Amino acid sequence: MTSLQSYACGRWHAGSGDAKTLHDPATEAVLGQVCPGGIDAAAVLQHAYRVGGPALRAMTFPQRAEMLKGLATMLHEHRDELIEIAARNGGNTRGDAKFDLDGASGTLAFYAQLGAALPAGNCLPDGDGVQLGRTARFWGQHVFVPRPGVALHINAFNFPAWGMGEKMACALLAGVPVITKAGTPSALLAYRIAQLVVGSGLVPEGAFQFLPGSVSAMLDLLGPMDSVAFTGSSVTGALIRGNKNLVARNVRVNIEADSINPAVLGPDVEPDGDTFAQFVTNVATDMTQKAGQKCTAVRRILVPQELVGAVEEALVERLRATKVGNPLDNDVRMGPVASAEQLRDVRAGMQRLQAVSDTVLGGPEPMADKGYFVRPTLLRAKHADAAVLHELEVFGPCATVIPYSGLGTDAVALCNRGGGGLVASAYSDDKQFIEQLVLGIAPWHGRVWLGSEKTQGQAIGPGAVLPASIHGGPGRAGGGEELGGLRGLHPYMQRTATQGDRAIVGKLFGREG
Ligand code: NAP
Repeated sequence: MTSLQSYACGRWHAGSGDAKTLHDPATEAVLGQVCPGGIDAAAVLQHAYRVGGPALRAMTFPQRAEMLKGLATMLHEHRDELIEIAARNGGNTRGDAKFDLDGASGTLAFYAQLGAALPAGNCLPDGDGVQLGRTARFWGQHVFVPRPGVALHINAFNFPAWGMGEKMACALLAGVPVITKAGTPSALLAYRIAQLVVGSGLVPEGAFQFLPGSVSAMLDLLGPMDSVAFTGSSVTGALIRGNKNLVARNVRVNIEADSINPAVLGPDVEPDGDTFAQFVTNVATDMTQKAGQKCTAVRRILVPQELVGAVEEALVERLRATKVGNPLDNDVRMGPVASAEQLRDVRAGMQRLQAVSDTVLGGPEPMADKGYFVRPTLLRAKHADAAVLHELEVFGPCATVIPYSGLGTDAVALCNRGGGGLVASAYSDDKQFIEQLVLGIAPWHGRVWLGSEKTQGQAIGPGAVLPASIHGGPGRAGGGEELGGLRGLHPYMQRTATQGDRAIVGKLFGREG
């Protein structure tokens, strides 16, 4: 059994306090434990402020980009070992594990490439300079500079590699030291990655600290130059956002929370066409990839009434063909959910949805004597209006078909009932329908993904978060924003308007104005 340690203040520490046990979710075998206490939060912060931050900011953007490139390569070199850990502690199939790990190394590599082209200093001009006075002598230039604080990253259990990697990539490139907290149920993978990061010597001492235990006490110590990036449930997100110290000191807080993501099938789509096939493939993938434990997974399947039969038939065929079992078996396509608590919550959630739906396939009944397995479950809403359909995230392989009238406005209203989401996907070749839908739902969703005949075979599905596009969403989704190219660095930097003599302001930032 592995006892996970923290990497803090330049060395590895055993935890203290009541241990939380880590399991193999396929067999329930005990694999490790996390003891959440024993870390001096103030000392961890000081180490980052005094050692990690200055060392990082002594590097230029291109030098930090080189560091990210090294991290991406290192992760890739250890891919097979990490896939095995993801299968054992995360219940991931090989495909699921690659999705997480390649997402991490791909995002690090993306920011390495972006950073290589940035200026050789620590300052990013924001747009062009502007004349502020009567003449061009009095000039203004907005700039981004790294904040001399820490980036506290709190990650969810479902993407131990990607969650850590995508946040690290942005903060480190911006020049801000990272303190990263792993979600407990799958922390073995994050721990191994942390060991590799520290062992590689690529990141300056103090710029990367790893805590598998609790960081609640640290929230009370953060100051105005620090930032918190949280990924997890909306309930925990609200708790963190409401932390008195964070509110009082205006500490930046970015919340990536949950989302009842809709997928909309357009009324023009024919069941034997490419757009329909793309829709069915993507919905079935979202329901079963990582056993449905993806914040971007489709939860509500909005289908014109007349196409409900065809959609259900096609999805049932796909889901029935998905072999569920121990992810270490090569022919298994869906593993268990991550923990006994998740299994309990998923089953209870399915039952709540069943109260307002008919069960088309699957259901919450136990599947096996051992392991946290649950069936792929497709439900059909009895009434599109039932609040629970639009409010309850069942974080497992479960989605509900919600028939709609075929009018774009009906689909818009149903999508927006989610109260703010990470991604909405729509499948149609009718430009008018798409325009009406996109304009109606865009304010309520961080990302709108469009599938059509021409994108069949070309598009990466809506469940994937790509570093070139922003990730996050309004309202219930947390109101946050990450990634999106250089935008991903902004939470860690201060945008300052510099005003003065054009010759000085322009020269200071390498812009002549
Ligand atoms: P969670 O229970 O909210 O926990 C998320 C993280 O917060 C974990 O590291 C957890 O640590 C920590 N935490 C819990 N209570 C805390 C507190 N009082 N103060 C500081 N940290 C605290 O979520 P989860 O079960 O890990 O993840 C599943 C949820 O995350 C789903 O709802 C999913 O939709 C959402 N999610 C969202 C995104 C996104 O990008 N928007 C991505 C992935 C997942 P412990 O594990 O030690 O409790």
